[in-house]
Amino acid sequence: MSDRDLFLTKLKKVAKIIIKAGVLPFTVSDTFLELLKFYLDEEDVEFILNFKHRSSMNTEQLKKNSKLSEEEIKRKAEKLAKKGFIFNQPSSSGIIVYRLLPIIVIGTFEYTFMNGIPEGEETQKYKGLAKLYAKLIDEFRNSVQKEYDNLIPIFKNQPPFGRAVPVFENSNGEQIEIVINQELDVEQTVLPSQKVEEIINKFDDIAVGNCFCRNYHRLLDEPCEINAPLECCFTFGKSARHVIEHGFGKRIDKQEALKIMRDAEEAGLIHMAFHNGLDIYREENSVCNCCKCCSDSFNLWRKGAVPLIYSTNYLSMIKQEVCIGCGTCVERCPTDAIELNEESKAERNEEYCIGCGICSRFCPEGAISLKKGMRRVYVPPPRLNYN
Ligand code: SF4
Ligand code: SF4
Repeated sequence: MSDRDLFLTKLKKVAKIIIKAGVLPFTVSDTFLELLKFYLDEEDVEFILNFKHRSSMNTEQLKKNSKLSEEEIKRKAEKLAKKGFIFNQPSSSGIIVYRLLPIIVIGTFEYTFMNGIPEGEETQKYKGLAKLYAKLIDEFRNSVQKEYDNLIPIFKNQPPFGRAVPVFENSNGEQIEIVINQELDVEQTVLPSQKVEEIINKFDDIAVGNCFCRNYHRLLDEPCEINAPLECCFTFGKSARHVIEHGFGKRIDKQEALKIMRDAEEAGLIHMAFHNGLDIYREENSVCNCCKCCSDSFNLWRKGAVPLIYSTNYLSMIKQEVCIGCGTCVERCPTDAIELNEESKAERNEEYCIGCGICSRFCPEGAISLKKGMRRVYVPPPRLNYN
């Protein structure tokens, strides 16, 4: 076997290992292999092969598997961490668990484009990379559509990817009306933080980086339709330390974080919180500020690639007698939950509402309030027609 063939054989094994580490069931396609070739050299490939049976390992386990010294493990893992393939932050007790990251959600893709767009000749290279990711996502969407009926029962039982953290002020700085749901026994429920301030206040380590979705779409020559701010992708705690250490973003203090969150709200962005282990009752590790046009939280669903699965504690309520049918909420809603009816009154579809409050924030008539109550939003990907 030639060296090239041997490398390819190993790369295919690595592709399978990386796919197993994530939540999206990719296949080992030519596109997937092309993407890996962009990042990985022989040394990287050899190192990742050690994760064949477990995607997370401590130093001792890795030493046993790889027969490498601790120093060599550290060096090789660090090299892969900089490429967005390995998470290598020590826990609060100082123990490092090396975790292999998936290619997308949350892994190589996100860290690559969080870093900003390289200038000069490198830009073209990254444009090519973005096109490869777009191809991979299209192929994935096609396979989901092909297996649609078999996948729906699996999707139905998946945990929420994250949750919307609502805005509570309208664009005049007034409080949005909150409707208390009398049927709820709120005392019985320990809710995750419902305000971005609460999340920020919990952490000493906060990092901000570029919005990877907007950067990715810029590289595809699809600039953000609302020209939303770029530097507003937050990580917290261990994730923040990882981002700062590897240059994916920078450290900021609580005041700076709060200002960026407020600017994001003003720009009409939606706070989406993500938690450790995809468990909304565990600590948040990141908050994205999503626009309707670029964010893959909404785009991948709209494209027919993934379901929309989020948790929320709010539901928008529209007072139709106050609505003047301006359509602002229809335009702003990230999940297309609102339509104008025949009388030109806004109507919201409860199933699609992730309780982000954006409709309420921008309604010029103050016609939209938010009703409390924990819900799981599940909307399957649209079924597309392929010939
Ligand atoms: S933004 Fe307010 S007034 Fe305009 S359509 Fe929506 S609910 Fe009606
Ligand atoms: S209707 Fe749309 S914009 Fe309004 S809270 Fe629900 S998801 Fe957000």
